[in-house]
Amino acid sequence: MSPNIIASLVPPTPEALAAAGRILAQGGLVAFPTETVYGLGGDATNDRAVAAIFEAKGRPSFNPLIAHVASVEQAAGLVAMTPLACDLARRFWPGPLTLVLPRLENSPVSLLVSAGLDSVAVRLPDHPVARALIQAAGRPLAAPSANRSGAVSPTTAAHVAESLSDRIDLILDGGPCRVGVESTVLDLCGPRPTLLRPGGIGVEDLEAALGQSLLRSTDAPDAPRSPGQLESHYAPTLPVRLNAMTRSDGEVLLGFGPMACTLNLSPDGDLAEAAANLFASLRALDRPGLTGIAVAPIPEHGLGLAINDRLCRAAAPRSGA
Ligand code: AMP
Ligand code: MG
Repeated sequence: MSPNIIASLVPPTPEALAAAGRILAQGGLVAFPTETVYGLGGDATNDRAVAAIFEAKGRPSFNPLIAHVASVEQAAGLVAMTPLACDLARRFWPGPLTLVLPRLENSPVSLLVSAGLDSVAVRLPDHPVARALIQAAGRPLAAPSANRSGAVSPTTAAHVAESLSDRIDLILDGGPCRVGVESTVLDLCGPRPTLLRPGGIGVEDLEAALGQSLLRSTDAPDAPRSPGQLESHYAPTLPVRLNAMTRSDGEVLLGFGPMACTLNLSPDGDLAEAAANLFASLRALDRPGLTGIAVAPIPEHGLGLAINDRLCRAAAPRSGA
């Protein structure tokens, strides 16, 4: 699109979905809701569209993207759906689980999506608008979170408009995201399933389904890694201080469970509610004139793993720019 044209924010009517499908088929970019966060979608089989995603986000090109599909059959046209992948897809798709699988030799997915790797990450999202859009486009959609690289992920259409509206063609407004943190990323290319990123599906649920514990990318030096797991990410403008029970002068306190605080992720201590509120809360507290955001401890189980992963990166030293 031409620079400085502000993307329109529209409800996902059948007409809007059809128009969005045409934009995508022509190589344009459309932001859309998924159950995790809002995605910045482009045709995963079109090099120029994929390059435009990296450009709009300011995302490093070595950080590969997830190809979103509308059916298991569509995934099977892109990657080798091994028996284990089919089994996990039966149990967890549609849903916030991304599977990294060997790329098919004749896979139509742009090499830019996988950043030169011989694997491709695929996911079938559990959001009717996301699936309708992929169907309308008639092709898999590469769709990282619809925000500038390194910043807090968007869980409403308004969040997308704040950072990207002059860089994309259309924003479909499907209301706030139900899960609120990104998908769990599981690498199935090696001899043992490896967790590359904790996310919307709890590790305990995956381990119960697999009947074995997951290898973590931090477990062994030769364990598979995600090139995109950069240290500083999901970062608001203000510094973030973790495991805080009180706030210092100039700080705001993001709480969890019953406690005195500026804003509470979940007064009842419910991790699903906290995940759904996480990114919107960080945005709401990221105000000028403050010295930092202090965050209460979050239990390290279930969705707490994904929340703590995002918070640790939000608190990590910034790389300067
Ligand atoms: P995002 O698009 O921001 O949700 O991030 C996608 C995540 O999946 C990043 O951490 C990527 O590094 C990871 N990922 C995508 N494709 C691959 C792949 N082929 N191998 C390993 N990790 C991947
Ligand atoms: Mg992201």
